[in-house]
Amino acid sequence: MTEPVLETRALSKSFGALTASDSVSLGLRPGEIHAIIGPNGAGKSTLIAQICGALRPDSGQVFLDGEDVTALPPQIRARRGLARSFQISQLAMEDTVLQNAVLGALGADGSPWRFFRPALRDRALRGSAEAALDRVGLLDHAATVAAELSHGERRLLEVAVALTLKPKVFVMDEPMAGLGTEGSAQLTRLLDALRLEAPILLVEHDMDAVFALADRISVLVYGRIIATGTVDEIRANPAVREAYLGEET
Ligand code: ADP
Ligand code: MG
Repeated sequence: MTEPVLETRALSKSFGALTASDSVSLGLRPGEIHAIIGPNGAGKSTLIAQICGALRPDSGQVFLDGEDVTALPPQIRARRGLARSFQISQLAMEDTVLQNAVLGALGADGSPWRFFRPALRDRALRGSAEAALDRVGLLDHAATVAAELSHGERRLLEVAVALTLKPKVFVMDEPMAGLGTEGSAQLTRLLDALRLEAPILLVEHDMDAVFALADRISVLVYGRIIATGTVDEIRANPAVREAYLGEET
């Protein structure tokens, strides 16, 4: 079997008496979308936070490209190719779409404007930013101020910003949240194509999107993975139906 690009080994994390991650081991293979589903409070976001480095596990490890990154801070993991998307606050709302993408290409979260000005004139940076915007279908909106984008377009811009960093892995926590039918469909199409550039670990509540996109699904309940399998395997799994999918199937 191919080596996973991203792997967790027995990650555990407790908040007081509550076990939010209970020895979670999972892998993300090249080219795949691996969805994590589970009820509210199951520990999905806690798991993502440990993978991205925002939260230290009590025990267990995170591997990126075979390297143990458990002790590394989020920015270093990001620079090594771990792209976390969908925290709207990462966008500079008063800047244009192109400026946001160039900032991404610069890898300069929070970098002062004086570094940024010359960056806009830098051909390579600008070229990579424009390519990323083109990839997500936002090149026509390059001059639009981010604040004027629709909700769905902002999600696409976040993907473009992530793409400029040439990620090895995408990690997404509920990217469909708050999107209407059209926005979800558009983002679903993009993610479907994006997996060829970098595999996606996808936490998502929208089961239509999950069933349409996932190569594999892991089901998290009370911090534990109770099943991992294909869409068909997960839909047919009695324990999963009881714990989570009951009303949906
Ligand atoms: P999910 O994303 O699956 O809805 P979370 O990972 O956000 O679940 O939360 C898992 C559990 O851990 C929940 O019971 C939540 O209340 C608890 N929790 C999450 N973060 C903290 C924290 N910083 N301090 C205390 N409890 C937390
Ligand atoms: Mg969550």
